[in-house]
Amino acid sequence: MNESKRQDLLARMRGMQKNVDTGRALRAQVSESRSQIGFDDLPEYKQVMMQKRASEELAMANPFYRAHEGASGAVAQIEGRELDNFASYDYLGLNHDPRILAAANETIGQFGISASASRVVAGERTIHAELESSLSDIYRSEAAVVFVSGYLTNVTTISTLMGPKDLVIHDEFMHNSGLTGVKLSGANRRFFKHNDMADLERILMTLGPQHERILVVSEGIFSMDGDVADLPGLVALKKKYNFWLMMDEAHSLGVLGEKGCGSFEHFGIDPSEVDIWMGTLSKTACSCGGYIAGSQALITLLKAQAGGFVYSVGLAPVLAASAIESLKVLRQEPERVRNLRRNSQVFLEHARGLGLDTGLSEGFSVVPVIVADSLRAVQASNELFEAGVNALPIIYPAVPEGLARLRFFITAAHDEAQIRRTVEKVVAILTRLKEQNFGFSSMDVQKVLMQLASR
Ligand code: PMP
Repeated sequence: MNESKRQDLLARMRGMQKNVDTGRALRAQVSESRSQIGFDDLPEYKQVMMQKRASEELAMANPFYRAHEGASGAVAQIEGRELDNFASYDYLGLNHDPRILAAANETIGQFGISASASRVVAGERTIHAELESSLSDIYRSEAAVVFVSGYLTNVTTISTLMGPKDLVIHDEFMHNSGLTGVKLSGANRRFFKHNDMADLERILMTLGPQHERILVVSEGIFSMDGDVADLPGLVALKKKYNFWLMMDEAHSLGVLGEKGCGSFEHFGIDPSEVDIWMGTLSKTACSCGGYIAGSQALITLLKAQAGGFVYSVGLAPVLAASAIESLKVLRQEPERVRNLRRNSQVFLEHARGLGLDTGLSEGFSVVPVIVADSLRAVQASNELFEAGVNALPIIYPAVPEGLARLRFFITAAHDEAQIRRTVEKVVAILTRLKEQNFGFSSMDVQKVLMQLASR
């Protein structure tokens, strides 16, 4: 190599080194400035804090995260007081039941608390198979599998089955867990208007042919509105367009149907018409966790491929035991389902009779009272709390602003007097808030937020 070539090469190497150094310096600068970004600098955090300060500015107590001092059911102990409680999923009133507590205690004695690790590596506990078999009995399905959370069940099932070439169409009121599952799957997503089969069919006709797999997801009883999905309509469309149908029965198990088997029993439909039965163990089953029931192939696939099963710890045996025992009570005491239905109907009819807006509710376990703006819903919930009732507001963004509500979960354990006096308290509070013109248009709220932002 001659001298000029050598000098040229050295110069190029120095240039390259300089580029590397500049890159390093830039990266250091970037990461230095990145390390200066605290979580409290994030716009998302600022928004949360601004909302918090806005409610302080408006002198409103926070109705969320109140600490309960005992096992809640139809009554709850909060701040040393006993309140009529309408904020519990314990639909069959089993949270205090001695049989459930005994089964749980016995299982702790046998298995301890933890399932140790993922069932893949830690091995099964006999109690898992027992729970899965009681769930397949309900759906008359080939198999079932349980997961550690209901939320996770939707996320991991949908994201395992669907991918970018596929289409998921769901009711617009679908729970957030389903939505997260679809996002994670990378599938195309469309919603159909709430319970509107014509809208669903329009989407199936226009978009169906361009996709490989199609999954339609709906809920037995809708968690925010308390109405029932049009399962016969969904099954009829499934026959015509050949999609997979998934039903989230979180709020329907133990609630719909004479024996509480859920929406298929309610409509007298063969459960095999639905490909994926999903549900949670946190409501009727008085435990924690989620499940899928369906064909053996579906369950085998999920047990092998669903991240939320393979890479997550097995359901704690004690939770499996509580769920098994609760499902046993459901089988043995169908009168609990009847009591739940009667209580829900009493609530709905009394509320409607006194002029409350109960939205779409059909009077099966979930009854909302629509209050209009979010702040009025919060104020009403706080005043109810003072008057001895625990019922929480559902506010924007969980529901659209203008449709904020108080949501009442009715259970088999409530009694009629409790229900009637609660409805009457709601009427008195909402009437007074209306007379005082209490409440804020979204313009008012915007103004407060802007004032806070400018400080
Ligand atoms: N699906 C629906 C319809 C729900 O309402 C919920 C929450 N209650 C879930 C899934 C998630 O269930 P879990 O709270 O048991 O995780």
